[in-house]
Amino acid sequence: MAATILAHKGHSVLIIDGAAHPKFAIGESTVPLTSQTFEHLAAQTGIPELLTLARGPQGIREKIGTTCGIKRAFCFLYHREGEENRPEENNLFGNVWRDENHLYRQDVDTYIFRAALRYGADALENTRVSSVELDDDGVTVSTVKGQRFRARYLIDGSGPRSPFIKQHELAERPTSLRTNTRTIFTHMTDVKSYDDCVDNPFSQPWSTGTNHHVFDGGWFWVIAFDNWEGATNKVASVGLTLDADRYPPRDDVSPEEEFAEFVGKYPSIARQFEDARAVRPWIRAPKIQHSSRQCVGDRYCLMAHSYGFVDPLYSIGLIMTVTAVSKLVDPLCKALETDEFAREDFLDVEKAMVRRLRYADMLIYGSYKSWSNYNLWNAWVRLWAIGLHALESIFASHLMMGKYSKYELVEDYITSEYEPQGYKALIEAGYASISAYADGTIDADACAKQLWKLIEDYDFEVRLRPEPEFDGVEWAMRTPDVHDLFLGVPENHERWRKEQVDPWIPSDTPA
Ligand SMILES: Cc1cc2nc3c(=O)[nH]c(=O)nc-3n(C[C@H](O)[C@H](O)[C@H](O)COP(=O)(O)OP(=O)(O)OC[C@H]3O[C@@H](n4cnc5c(N)ncnc54)[C@H](O)[C@@H]3O)c2cc1C
Repeated sequence: MAATILAHKGHSVLIIDGAAHPKFAIGESTVPLTSQTFEHLAAQTGIPELLTLARGPQGIREKIGTTCGIKRAFCFLYHREGEENRPEENNLFGNVWRDENHLYRQDVDTYIFRAALRYGADALENTRVSSVELDDDGVTVSTVKGQRFRARYLIDGSGPRSPFIKQHELAERPTSLRTNTRTIFTHMTDVKSYDDCVDNPFSQPWSTGTNHHVFDGGWFWVIAFDNWEGATNKVASVGLTLDADRYPPRDDVSPEEEFAEFVGKYPSIARQFEDARAVRPWIRAPKIQHSSRQCVGDRYCLMAHSYGFVDPLYSIGLIMTVTAVSKLVDPLCKALETDEFAREDFLDVEKAMVRRLRYADMLIYGSYKSWSNYNLWNAWVRLWAIGLHALESIFASHLMMGKYSKYELVEDYITSEYEPQGYKALIEAGYASISAYADGTIDADACAKQLWKLIEDYDFEVRLRPEPEFDGVEWAMRTPDVHDLFLGVPENHERWRKEQVDPWIPSDTPA
């Protein structure tokens, strides 16, 4: 993506990739913020291919093909070992206005790669970088094949096993990230629609969203690529992510066997996977968190996935990647003009990465802790949802109105300059509560009570939409027995205006 932009601006760019397109990549589920960040980047650079990625499933179908799926909602489905999934312990978030994507990355990445070549970038595929030397005038990149290349600036997008990070000891060891999880994943065929496995009283089918099957100790994802009329890709991305303190890495079973073992503990999930077969080898990573001591230096920038990563739970990875590119291109183009590549000029990229990574860590750490108790999770997940909806509204206003937006950008943000003013305080207070629970200072009920109180007291500064027919969102967010938080469905807003909870929630559910 960065290469596409720099080549489009007429700069000399060389892409060196250890693999060749089309190639498997993980990071398939997007959220509205991902598309908005693409939209911002497309406006910033004037590159039509980036606009394709901003336009959601429609743009992708027109320009890339029919192999990607849609994501209409985040479906959080709570499971207890040995028991059927209870509808009253599920949560749905999304809206009617914007579908997001299940990106079949090999096709999407190839599309952007081809654009980079068209705009004039050079590329060397199937070529691994072995070392990178930095000096005052530039960088020298060496490959395992013995080639050497000289450049003025390095963008390292090689991910957690970056040879550059290793060589220059940029990794933060041990990582300061509190989340400690591991993962097992692959692509499978014949994964059933979850709607065929359980009753669904919610306003949207589970199949049109990303399924997050959460349980005490971990979660599964199911990202379907064939969940719309006309889809041509029967494959689904599936994965299991586990709390590694609770379930330490194992080598006594294969990844496939371990995955099946966990599936077997949850009857509703087992039905979804009963016919499923892997179409590629399983991947098992003993730890997925990593972080770096710095993100930018004189003459280099670590892309988001090289800089750090927490866990895929809230689909924050690609937002970070697109944000890093967006914040990098202007100072980098200026530096390419002036030939000055000082770290100080790129600190905005670092600030964005440091804060987004830390925010992801707080949210995800808290989520794993909260899964011990549904009421606690039901409260905790709203801290994320409140931020996400407000951020989308403020970002949308800036995309449309630019400097005339009525919302001021936040300087000391927790995750983004587009967040509402009070959001940082909400997250910090919530994180203090969940940390107290994790440390054993308070119990789950006391923690949940504190979180609900924070949500109750939170000043929703940003109205989602001005139309009265879309009222009631704030009440719904604050109300434990509203779990179908899918916005824009008239029946939902009508209930919320009358302060009525989801009709299928039993009246004795603890609040
Ligand atoms: C399990 C998991 C699930 C995820 N799910 C989501 C999600 O649902 N949504 C989301 O937004 N994000 C998700 N992410 C994050 C997401 O994967 C990354 O943000 C995203 O893939 C970054 O894309 P990238 O192209 O920068 O890096 P990558 O996809 O990591 O690509 C790295 C590239 O570097 C190349 N490379 C590596 N080493 C060398 C070398 N020595 N020399 C040359 N080339 C090299 C590789 O060949 C590869 O092409 C997930 C991450 C993980 C680990």
